[in-house]
Amino acid sequence: CGATSGLYTASDQVVVLTPDNVDSVLVNSTAAQVVEFYASWCGHCIAFSPVWKSLARDIKEWKPAVDLAAIDCANQDNGPICSRFGVRGYPTLKFFHAYSKPDSKGEGFRGFSRDVSGLRHKIIDKMETHEEPWPPACPPLETASKAELDNFFETNNVEHLALIFETSNSYVGREVTLDLLQYENIAVRRVLSTEDALVAKLGVTDFPSCYLYYPSGISTRLHVQLEARTFYSYALQRLPGVVRAGKPLPVTSDLAKNTTEDQLRPFNRSRVYMADLESTLHYSLRVELAAHPVIKGEALSTLQRYISVLAKYFPGRPVVKNLLKSVDTWLKGQKDTELSYSSLRDALDNTAEVPDAALPEGVRWVGCQGSKPHFRGFPCGMWTLFHVLTVQAEEAAGKDPQEVLQVMRSYIHSFFGCRECATHFENMAKESMSHVRTLSSAVLWLWSHHNHVNSRLAGALSEDPHFPKIQWPSPELCPSCHGVKRSGEHTWNQEELLTFLHSHFSSEHLLSDYLE
Ligand code: FAD
Repeated sequence: CGATSGLYTASDQVVVLTPDNVDSVLVNSTAAQVVEFYASWCGHCIAFSPVWKSLARDIKEWKPAVDLAAIDCANQDNGPICSRFGVRGYPTLKFFHAYSKPDSKGEGFRGFSRDVSGLRHKIIDKMETHEEPWPPACPPLETASKAELDNFFETNNVEHLALIFETSNSYVGREVTLDLLQYENIAVRRVLSTEDALVAKLGVTDFPSCYLYYPSGISTRLHVQLEARTFYSYALQRLPGVVRAGKPLPVTSDLAKNTTEDQLRPFNRSRVYMADLESTLHYSLRVELAAHPVIKGEALSTLQRYISVLAKYFPGRPVVKNLLKSVDTWLKGQKDTELSYSSLRDALDNTAEVPDAALPEGVRWVGCQGSKPHFRGFPCGMWTLFHVLTVQAEEAAGKDPQEVLQVMRSYIHSFFGCRECATHFENMAKESMSHVRTLSSAVLWLWSHHNHVNSRLAGALSEDPHFPKIQWPSPELCPSCHGVKRSGEHTWNQEELLTFLHSHFSSEHLLSDYLE
């Protein structure tokens, strides 16, 4: 990870091509590949790179069938590859069929659009006309007829069949089919509005609309807030029994459900708990920082700014706020260029001389508890803490819009134990944190970049199957945060989102269950 090649890094969900991997990626692959040939000095390529990255995030679920790659032709080592594929101008996009031969030059994408939905549709067009052999992970994309459905369950071993009824120029059905390809126990087919027998049988009147069809012939309409791709995919991925391939089924039966739920502390998934914030402070200050016996230079200034921001904005119980303020005052009084962790620890724990000041020992994860001990906990608490702090800074009308974000950036860089996470976060911060100009855009920056991380980690081994990574907040948690553009693309309603984030992370809304 972190391998950079001009405009893309491994964390962009784009395969970075080099002389070492080009043949293993493009030749005889089980997935089709769409490659962007670019030159890192070319202005158009620089302008296009955010689109390519967004597209990669947008169709990440499609990877087993079709994946995105990029190669920097300005890098001398890559020159022979770019000439082998006959590339002269940049950016050039080429489609490589699955099982391409070593001498394949790929098919050009002529006159491609520079927006995510146009490119996504073009990729679907290419996949639909994919020559044999078909990429094995790619589900059928053609329209379904009544005859096919009559014996569907005899030939397909799935519990759910989702039918998306739509007009012939709509891509929603094929997009949702591909969005679900990594999920087991469900198949998705598109049905055209002109398929009269099925339209009449199910009484379909809206296009698009989605129906669940069962072997008994019974069908029910899928209830979604808006009739659009994101809402269908989100709802279908959460049907009972539907699970991401290779992941254990989170809930296989009521018995299993009870066992897991019993092991968890009862909690409300749509709320934020003070116990998580205090646990995060404990872990950060007494465990993570303890790995640094001597704190000096940049790390010392990071620690001072971190404590100062906590003292200013942490919306805790009075005893905890008093403790943070006393440690802040003590740290500001330290004139040495280095600090031993043990003296910080004394300041945290020896509060006898400061009345009513203490930080409870130990962790009690509630909203951040995982279904297994290695899931969630501290990293979840860290995100939550900084979301709360960005919201508190805005409520307190802080002076510097970047204050909390820059403290988070420095803390993660200097102290966060997951070093790979720190590298990724620093890359994101470098790219855009300096553009934040208002306190509310700081709240939104953290929200949107946390979602980038969620998108990258969805389906990873570190994902707790009981708490799948989603583009948060879900349509259930904040219906008005979601919308669709006229083109059918999902959009976030930023004003509603801000209102939601303010209420979700506000001090009045924090729950105090499980506090010592
Ligand atoms: P988390 O992602 O930790 O989220 C915690 C809670 O915040 C969620 O339960 C939800 O209620 C809420 N939430 C979710 N999304 C948002 C959002 N967009 N805005 C506001 N609130 C939201 N792990 C890796 O494997 N690789 C990495 O590169 C990596 N980088 C990280 C970088 C940072 C700065 C941090 C703090 C953590 C990183 N992690 C990384 C850990 C990973 O992001 C998760 O924290 C961890 O996997 C636990 O996930 P979770 O299910 O508890 O949800």
